[in-house]
Formats: sequence, C-alpha cells, structure tokens
Amino acid sequence: MVLSRIASQSDVSVHSTFASRYVREPLPRYKMPENSIPKEAAFQIINDELMLDGKPRLNLASFVTTWMEPECDKLIMDSMNKNYVDMDEYPVTTELQNRCVNMIAHLFNAPLGEAEAAVGVGTVGSSEAIMLAGLAFKRKWQNKRKAQGLPYNNPNIVTGANVQVCWEKFARYFEVELKEVKLREDYYVMDPEKAVEMVDENTICVAAILGSTLNGEFEDVKLLNDLLLEKNKATGWDTPIHVDAASGGFIAPFLWPELEWDFRLPLVKSINVSGHKYGLVYAGVGWNIWRSKEDLPEELIFHINYLGADQPTFTLNFSKGSSQIIAQYYQLIRLGYEGYRNVMDNCHQNAMVLRKGLEETGRFKIVSKEVGVPLVAFSLKDNSSGHDEFEIAEMLRRFGWIVPAYTMPADAAHVTVLRVVIREDFSRALAERLVLDIIKVLHDLDALPPSHHKHQETPSPKKSDLEIQRETVACWKKFVLSNKSVAANKNKIC
Ligand SMILES: *Cc1c(COP(=O)(O)O)cnc(C)c1O
Repeated sequence: MVLSRIASQSDVSVHSTFASRYVREPLPRYKMPENSIPKEAAFQIINDELMLDGKPRLNLASFVTTWMEPECDKLIMDSMNKNYVDMDEYPVTTELQNRCVNMIAHLFNAPLGEAEAAVGVGTVGSSEAIMLAGLAFKRKWQNKRKAQGLPYNNPNIVTGANVQVCWEKFARYFEVELKEVKLREDYYVMDPEKAVEMVDENTICVAAILGSTLNGEFEDVKLLNDLLLEKNKATGWDTPIHVDAASGGFIAPFLWPELEWDFRLPLVKSINVSGHKYGLVYAGVGWNIWRSKEDLPEELIFHINYLGADQPTFTLNFSKGSSQIIAQYYQLIRLGYEGYRNVMDNCHQNAMVLRKGLEETGRFKIVSKEVGVPLVAFSLKDNSSGHDEFEIAEMLRRFGWIVPAYTMPADAAHVTVLRVVIREDFSRALAERLVLDIIKVLHDLDALPPSHHKHQETPSPKKSDLEIQRETVACWKKFVLSNKSVAANKNKIC
C-alpha cells in the first residue's frame, strides 16, 4: 500500500548508472513507462536500487527467517508458479499442508485420537491466523448468546497492552473491543489476575502471548487458565483462551517441553504460530490450530470439492503461493524434533552470550528473560550522560547492524529498549562481534556532548568528524522517516 506522497519533482524518474548502457531515457517513477525495455536493463535497474536495502541477515530487528538451506531454496524456486488454491491441480501440495497442520497440532499437544485429523490452516502469517482465530471466537460467542436470547453486539477481547499490532487490527476490522491489561515498569507482560478481572460476559476470549514482542517473555498461560477456570465456574461463562505463539510456538516445545502453555490446558482452544519465524521458513507462512472441530464454527468453513473429495478451507484470501508451505514441510521433515531442538538451543546459547557480554559492560539493564524467545532486550541503566538508546541504535548502523530502539507502550512509555533478535543464522561469532561494536559505540558516545538536540542550543564552534557524521546520519534518518510516516506507529515493531 502506498500512502506516501511524491517527494519532489526531481524524484519522479529513476536514473540508473549501468543500465544506461541499455536505457538512455530515465524511467518515470510513478507512471508506467510508455515503452518496453530489455530484460537485462530491467534487472539491472531494480538490482541496483535494491542494493540500498539493509542486509537481511544483519537485520536484528526481525524474527523472520533470512536463511534456508540451498536444497530448500531450490524447492521454493521450483514451486514459485504453483497457486496454492488450485487444490484440484496440486493435490500433493494440499496434502503437505495437511501434514504440517497435523505435525504442529501434535507438537502443541492437541488432544487427538489415534486416527483423528487435526483442525488447522496454513496462512500467510500469524496475523491472518489471528484474524481467523478471532473470527471463530467471535462467531462462537455470538451463536451462544443468540441461543440464550442475550444481546450479542458488544463483544470484547482481553489482552495485555504488549499485544502485537495485529490484535488491534483484528479488533478494528472485525468490530471487537480490545480491553488491554496495562503494563507497569519492570513488568512487561499481561498480568493474568488483572486479565481475568477484566473478563465479562461479552469477552470472546483472552489472548495470551507466548513470546511478547517487546521482550520475548512468555506469559503465564497456566496461571491464566487456572484463574479463568475458577471464574468460569463461578459465573457460568465459558470464556476460552487463545495463545499467540507467533514466535514462541516453535521454541517452547523444544527448549522447555515441560512448560504447560498449549492444548494441555483445557481452556486453550486455539494457537497461532508463524512458520516464518522460528518455524524457520522465509516470510509468508503461519498456522492456526484449533483444539477440536467444535472450536471452529462450521459456518466459517468453505468447502471446495477436489477430485471428488471435500477440501474444507478457512482463509481470508484466495490465491497465494505454495512455496512457503512446501518449505515448511521441508523443515519439519529435514530437521525433525532433534534438529529443531538443536537450532533453538543454539539460538538460546547465543542469546545468553550476548546477554552476558552486555551485562559485563555494566551499562545495561536486561529486560528480556532467560526463559523466553531468544532475544536480548536491554536499556541503558543511566541516561544521565545525555545519550539514549536511540542514539546507540543509530550509531550501530555504522557497523551495518540494524538494532531497533523503541519505547514501551502506555504506562511504561518512559522505558526505552534496544532489542536484538537471535535467529538461526546469527552465530556466536556475530554475537561476540556485536558486543564489541556496542562497547565501541558506548565509548564514542561517552566522548560526545549530550544529544544533538540539547547540544544545538549551545553549539560548539568546531565539530569533530564523528559529530558531523552523526548529524548527517540523523538528517538522513529524519528524511527517510518523514517519507514513511511512521510517527503514528512508533511503538509498532514486528
Ligand atoms: C510476529 C508476531 C505477530 C504477527 O505475525 P506475522 O507472522 O508477522 O503476521 C503476532 N503476534 C506476535 C506475538 C508476534 O511476535
């Protein structure tokens, strides 16, 4: 979606260095060019422009997979031209998605009989999965209220204020009130007691997060389940739980299998997970698993007839690629339980290396937990030097690292954190390197006067190279940000 305005007149055409061998005229930027150009030129122009994107593997802001084995890359390329929705033509792809659903349902301890098939869908990511899960809860609640002759026009959902933005999206798009449990300093997840207090007869579900986006912490789903069971018993309601395990769903079963957060808890009726996060597949795949058939209202399911067999579907869109489903199946059979455990264990170890290195600087307070998603979230202990986490993030860019800094949501908004996500391709050597680079940045910052905005009030006559460099970076950043109009979503990292 493009909401940005055209920056300036000089911006309306795309000039290219090497492609000028093939193309003499600059291409219009926002209008379709009148004439064709050679394929080599098109490739060169786009390739050159993309060079300015960050390097995905150094993007420590994202949970999303940036590396897969070449064998899987090949499977992906070979299936680029398969439309997933053509189940008639590609029944094997459909079968692979069903196998993935079953494998993941078992991983989450769905109470399935020997020959019983799991209930779940492949989606574009956790966001689509959450829309579907939320719709199922809403419809189930409405059906029940209708049957009881009670009003059904005012549904709500209870979450922590740390929810990922897709829950706000769900609430707004599907007209459900979002009731958020507030955070407080040093407690950045949903407090189960407060959540259960907020539950009322119009609550369609409580959404817990396994792996808060802000600091990777697992919410206490077991306690939530127990408290909610009590409340349900006392009130006669049957408010269910959804677990948003976008990042943690492929971590907890391997690193902390005894931790009860999934279908072992009776009120957990559905779980989403991002295949493209710790499911280890490139962007474009997520999953939603329901506890049983009863938890997914039949009227939301569309039946497609293929080869005479019934293929039920429940998705928001129609066509999409097959590659990501095939890639997910590859990872599940290639790695197996053992392989996933090794990968997750490595990520966890590397997170601990980074955590220890940062602690040893004596300058940071760690706000992520040892049990949780392998990431390190940290704040400066002391802001009195006049420098903040945003400056650290900015200066780390000089070394190629993309580390986001963000403020916590309302009620803890005075806390700023830096967050480094450890993925499979982030090696121990890189973790050690990052610590060294952070130490260098701290050293440089210490040598600088307090932040430039304060500093501008009393300009020093002579600026050092480093200061000039910082100001240039700041200017560019401002320019880029103003084009992206991120202001409204400052907290919304993904
Ligand atoms: C990433 C994330 C999402 C959104 O998932 P996508 O797969 O990117 O759509 C939702 N919730 C949580 C907790 C997340 O970490």
